[in-house]
Amino acid sequence: MKEFSSETLKTMQSAVSLQTEQSLKTDFYYQRELPENLKSLETIAWNYFWSWETGGADIFRELEPTLWEKCEQNPRLLLKKIKQLRLWQKSTDFDYVEKVKRFAEKLENYLSQQPISAGRASADNPIAYFCAEYGVHNSLPNYSGGLGILAGDHLKSASDLNIPLVAVGLLYRYGYFRQKIAHDGWQEERYLDVFDSELALKPVTGENGERILVSVHIRGREVFAQGWLAEIGRIKLYLLDTNLPQNSDVDRLITGHLYGGDTETRIVQEKVLGIGGVRFLRKLNYQPSVFHLNEGHSAFLTLELAREFLQTNESADFNEAINAVREQCVFTTHTPVEAGNDVFPIEKLSACFSSDFVESLKISPEEFFALGRTNPDDEKEGFGMTPLALRMTRSANGVSEKHGEVSRDLWLKMFPEGTENEDVPITHITNGVHAPTWIAPLLKTIYEKHIGARWTEILRDEPAWREAIERIPDAEIWNAHLVLKQILVAFIRNKTFSKETGTQHTINEREDTGKLFDANVLTIGFARRVAAYKRWNLLMTDLERLLKLVDDSERPVQFVFAGKAHPQDRVGKQLLQNLMSINHDSNWQNRAVFIEDYDQEVARYLVQGVDVWMNVPRRPLEASGTSGQKSAMNGGLNFSILDGWWIEGYNETNGFSIGELNVGDDQDAIDAEDAESLYQVLENEIVPAFYEKDENGLPANWIRRMKDALATLTPQFSSDRMVKDYLEKIYR
Ligand SMILES: *Cc1c(COP(=O)(O)O)cnc(C)c1O
Repeated sequence: MKEFSSETLKTMQSAVSLQTEQSLKTDFYYQRELPENLKSLETIAWNYFWSWETGGADIFRELEPTLWEKCEQNPRLLLKKIKQLRLWQKSTDFDYVEKVKRFAEKLENYLSQQPISAGRASADNPIAYFCAEYGVHNSLPNYSGGLGILAGDHLKSASDLNIPLVAVGLLYRYGYFRQKIAHDGWQEERYLDVFDSELALKPVTGENGERILVSVHIRGREVFAQGWLAEIGRIKLYLLDTNLPQNSDVDRLITGHLYGGDTETRIVQEKVLGIGGVRFLRKLNYQPSVFHLNEGHSAFLTLELAREFLQTNESADFNEAINAVREQCVFTTHTPVEAGNDVFPIEKLSACFSSDFVESLKISPEEFFALGRTNPDDEKEGFGMTPLALRMTRSANGVSEKHGEVSRDLWLKMFPEGTENEDVPITHITNGVHAPTWIAPLLKTIYEKHIGARWTEILRDEPAWREAIERIPDAEIWNAHLVLKQILVAFIRNKTFSKETGTQHTINEREDTGKLFDANVLTIGFARRVAAYKRWNLLMTDLERLLKLVDDSERPVQFVFAGKAHPQDRVGKQLLQNLMSINHDSNWQNRAVFIEDYDQEVARYLVQGVDVWMNVPRRPLEASGTSGQKSAMNGGLNFSILDGWWIEGYNETNGFSIGELNVGDDQDAIDAEDAESLYQVLENEIVPAFYEKDENGLPANWIRRMKDALATLTPQFSSDRMVKDYLEKIYR
């Protein structure tokens, strides 16, 4: 019999008596009445801290496991849908009540710390972080891919490091699309409504309870936006949306789709984000010391800051305003290709900016348009958000060392003739990922046991971390990995065929999913956007050679794929269809699987369970890449082209490289060489190393590599390291 604190017993007894005092809640906050001793479930559900802290997700899963999956791990939805009976039953489960209580205390303690002061940033003058998307958790479907996940991880690390930071973004009514693969292998898209009453978002209101609104201009009218607050640990994230009765139907949809809509919609979206975002922060009395433009989408905010400056400094001119704005703003670029940057036609842009706004900047329309051109004198050039950002910020950076160099080349043309690459003022901060979000709970338990509850702090100290990892017994690491692989296999079988939901999926339609995948087989994961440069087809270059690996009776290989093609990308969809249609008289059917609807949840199962994480981008187009970092943190071995982060991470034992570091210009020749290298490394290095066992039945060599990956890559590519770098090298 377990012992409980007298306090717990007291709250249990009071579960009933206080119920009558429960006041009627407004519709917005409607959910089941919680028994008194489970009331803190609501507090926990309102802060995304639960999504990464050990034990957080378990609390909701344990409440009602099937419903939890049905609600797609959304605590607010769960608390809305759960049966009253179940709640009362759990209120008598002493273990459970104690667990909830402890987690609520952990959250309270976490939130009670005061932010540190660092350089210019302090609680009164925080860093204001702007991004068009945030991938915090699946239950806030407000991201499309890498950029959003990176922004989410940035906020979580800023929270853990207790850095004064406030974040601004947009709330998309229909989020990003959900992917379904039709029977012919063609990708189909669905957009689901996002109901604010089901998200952990609070309406932002003023002193009298009225919604705080801001507006931006388009074609002679004002578009209003309201704000929502999401709490990411200690960090406040404000999301703006235009779905308001004050707006016309068209304008209500401006924040409808992430990266959707026509050019004007995009311009106004970016105005709401940049200009509306600054106005919103001002209404909340924020005086940020630094504005961080994470990608160019928010670059209009620099114009709003200039307008503010000129309003308070009546005798100043625009050049003085630029200097004042630059002093406050920093910019991170994420795209290694010109086409990846927003460029708006001048006539569309001018329809979205009133002449009053331009006049308030004390410049002519031509001077205004020139701000967004690489060559200010070229009237044929459109208005680019990256040139604007580069002009208006004091610091610019790419997201890996290589990407810094590539970005300097790309924007060299904005600088005087004769400028060399190394003179272009664009530096780099390599991306990282949030360890507590991406490391499997089982591995966290092992870290807690061997390293201690403060393992996330040790993780910030590379030598100490390496030593700690070395101390963990090989067998323990390996057994944990095998369990995680079993979980992955079970997840794959669930996803591919489910009698319960009646879903069947093209290549995954199998009579018997019990034969699908095998946890003893070398498992390779490949999940990423389906974009041409990611070379989804490289693996299939020589199908016969590939199937020989898959069919090997002693040392087979199996593959798990996932990824979305952009809705308008027919070439990408064709690539997917080709993959789905590999129908061969071989073991391929049981050893290759495509998981639909790649998202954070799918990503977690994959990066936590595979042996090898493959990445074959066209150089140098992987600005950084982060999924491989997530896999490395779980002991997965990267098997990748030397591009983006992997150039910095690879040390010959902590993973595998494909092809050469430097290649020529003949893309067909490079593809052929890389494919050859891919097969050779698989056949001659990966497969033998994985299946080689020592006298204890352990793949000692493989485990040595896993530990090396855990030891070297976890600290170097954690978002704690990244955010600290931003603090020390960029924000100050
Ligand atoms: C991490 C992640 C990404 C970004 O990974 P890349 O390596 O840049 O492709 C994209 N989508 C999801 C769902 C992720 O979890």
